[in-house]
Amino acid sequence: MHARSFQPPPRTLMGPGPADVHPRVLAATARPTIGHLDPAFGAMMEELKTLLRYAFRTENALTMPVSAPGSAGMETCFVNLVEPGDKVIVCINGVFGGRMRENVLRAGGEPVVVEDDWGRAVDPEKLEDALNAHPDAKLVAFVHAETSTGACSDAKTLVEIARRHGCLTIVDAVTSLGGSPLEVDAWGIDAVYSGSQKCLSCTPGLAPVSLSERALAKVTARSTPVRSWFLDLNLVLGYWQGTDGGKGKRSYHHTAPVNALYALHEALVMLAEEGIEQAWERHRTNHLALRAGLSALGLELVVPEAERLAQLNAVAVPGGIDEAAARARLLETYSLEIGAGLGALAGKVWRIGLMGWSSRPENILLCLGALGSVLRDMGHDADTGAALAAAQAALGR
Ligand SMILES: *Cc1c(COP(=O)(O)O)cnc(C)c1O
Repeated sequence: MHARSFQPPPRTLMGPGPADVHPRVLAATARPTIGHLDPAFGAMMEELKTLLRYAFRTENALTMPVSAPGSAGMETCFVNLVEPGDKVIVCINGVFGGRMRENVLRAGGEPVVVEDDWGRAVDPEKLEDALNAHPDAKLVAFVHAETSTGACSDAKTLVEIARRHGCLTIVDAVTSLGGSPLEVDAWGIDAVYSGSQKCLSCTPGLAPVSLSERALAKVTARSTPVRSWFLDLNLVLGYWQGTDGGKGKRSYHHTAPVNALYALHEALVMLAEEGIEQAWERHRTNHLALRAGLSALGLELVVPEAERLAQLNAVAVPGGIDEAAARARLLETYSLEIGAGLGALAGKVWRIGLMGWSSRPENILLCLGALGSVLRDMGHDADTGAALAAAQAALGR
């Protein structure tokens, strides 16, 4: 058999994730693999947990990366917290809320769905109504940043309502962590999960999670075993926490993805160097510059201004433009990846991500220049020069 090494083409990633990975993070993955029970690795893990607590703004002892992508972070929260028969209010305003419902069903729970339009935030009043109608609900689950539409929900208010009704909360922060203000402790979130490849700008494949004491108490008091062996926190913690709050011996559960964890550690060191609040601010400033440029191109964002995410911009495809053909041209000619619409928004929007290391001025200018000329080639009257000038002005250049 004749085989050759794979050389990925150089790309600029401005879709819904993965985002561009910083060279420092890529370099970290190439460091020598050591044993996952090596004391030096254990020390790195402890630092990693501390860095994750910084990013999540929490003191939760149970804060760690699950060895699998964001979807496994979601599944970890649901399989551990939902017991057969538990009623769970699931707010759905896009693709990922739908997956939460599926997770409740598979964990043996009973989902009660609160629906909102795709492209809108979750409506707190609808949640309040559902909780009044279902006083026996145990949990409330929602997506903070709906990557499928670009809508940001008011997590603080939703959690406050859930807690007032005595429910624990599961919050999807896959796209919000590192990109939008997220205050796990101050808002009282019980279980939160994220992904490494979105605003943390790490390689894909890891899912940071954090559980409050209240959530952990529900997990340890379960009367039935968790329906997943791999994701059962009662077992995983023997490795990630060891006994005796991290000082005891770590026991083998699965082989940790050693080099991927180096990468996450480096990405979080970079986040700490920048400062989490500065990272939120950078995402916001760059979003405003992209928006100014898109608007000069005659393009509109589909999410109402007050509910918009900075890191994921859903742009309405202008009439007469073939959205898939435009994306293909961006990739072929400019090596630029942007995302397609999903579900209810398929064929109607492009999703332009400004996540993590992708959220920088040169990417905005590349995207506006490339999109402007592709649209012009396809017959749309787009003024690329005006778009670049508008973005530059917003960036203060
Ligand atoms: C990307 C994403 C996920 C899933 O993460 P994977 O790493 O693709 O498994 C879940 N929720 C939201 C909101 C996401 O954006």
